[in-house]
Amino acid sequence: MPAQRDLLFINSSQLITCAGPARARRGKEMSDIGILKNSAVAVSNGRIAMIGAASDLRNAYTDADIIDCKGGVLTPGLVDSHTHTMFGKARFEEHEQRAAGLDYMEIAQRGGGIHASVRDFRQRSEDELYSMSVERLRELAAYGTTTVEIKSGYGLSTDEELKALAVIGRLADRHKQRIIATWLGAHEIAQEYRSDSDRREKLIDMLVHDQLPKVVQQRVARFADVFCEPGVFTVEESRRLLSAARKAGLGVKLHADELKPAGGAELAVELEATSADHLAAVSEKGIRALSKSETVATLLPGTMLFLGRSKQAPARELIDAGAAVALATDFNPGTSPTVNFPLIMTLGVSQLRMSLAEVLVACTVNGAAALGLAAEIGQVAPGFSADLALFSITDIRELPYWYGARLCVGSWKAGAPCHPYENVTKLQARFPEVVPTG
Ligand SMILES: [Zn+2]
Repeated sequence: MPAQRDLLFINSSQLITCAGPARARRGKEMSDIGILKNSAVAVSNGRIAMIGAASDLRNAYTDADIIDCKGGVLTPGLVDSHTHTMFGKARFEEHEQRAAGLDYMEIAQRGGGIHASVRDFRQRSEDELYSMSVERLRELAAYGTTTVEIKSGYGLSTDEELKALAVIGRLADRHKQRIIATWLGAHEIAQEYRSDSDRREKLIDMLVHDQLPKVVQQRVARFADVFCEPGVFTVEESRRLLSAARKAGLGVKLHADELKPAGGAELAVELEATSADHLAAVSEKGIRALSKSETVATLLPGTMLFLGRSKQAPARELIDAGAAVALATDFNPGTSPTVNFPLIMTLGVSQLRMSLAEVLVACTVNGAAALGLAAEIGQVAPGFSADLALFSITDIRELPYWYGARLCVGSWKAGAPCHPYENVTKLQARFPEVVPTG
């Protein structure tokens, strides 16, 4: 491969560095995002090499390609640490059914829910799933997301889960963003186990003794995840499965306390999980446990919004207690069909009562920590991978403010474009009061 040319990002109105320790930020640490003005960024061999005055950097990197930010705001590439991006069909009919008052069980009885995605997934080829996912990843990149965690979990049988992870592996090898694979074989109780009287025992045995060893042997996932929730997998079952995964060398994540407080957060801390995700119904005890642990609390406010639920995760309580909070889209066809990560930032401010700095850290540094990547990505600082996003705004506070708008005009992973750099000035013309300074 030819050596990558050096790059100089100049003329940003603000450079948001989020620079600091290479680990999750917790409590008050989440209030510092390191805003720099009149600063350029030099990228060499895909890494941040220098930050400083444009004139100094031009002298130091005379052969670099210049990327003119034209007065936009440059940030670390956004890190979406919880998605189900690789699925088959959309499930828009359920949206209307839910609005008409049907609950989860009634929707499932009409053929909807996760099982609908599983039936559909099993009929599709790897090629088909690959090309559908590429389109969605392009859309994620167009909103500034440069790292995407993708879970399996619509296959459920061993062969189908390995198929899912093989497609995610192909995406990781060939696609422009950074892709992290998570094995979610315990996303739901597969239909074939539902009719069996001692099904649960058999299912967990199958996951531990058949599926997990194959996932580990094929090296197709970095993390294991379980849907730990009353009616899906119990705390005891989740403990058994995730302990085995941990012993086999995988990192551990949990879907925890989404709808009812069932001890999922406490289990995540007990297992030293990298993250506990959802947490809309986390207990006081769970908040305390998370605040004293290294486990990142990953909140998914888009899901609660889309489901029309009034109760959001207690972000304020978590941060004030000293926990590390990340935000993610939970992009999936049933409960959060959005690729718009900045919209999740809006929900962070408007519904979770987080500050702008806290949502920025939650979508960069802490997202990286939720994937065990805090030493590699999430901040613009020398030595870190040059994962960057450029937005057509002049003040970072505009990013969650213009809610729903697509303001990203370029995103890069390790200095290589994920989303083509566009004409910033043209986009800024949509908002006449925003005057480019570059
Ligand atoms: Zn999920």
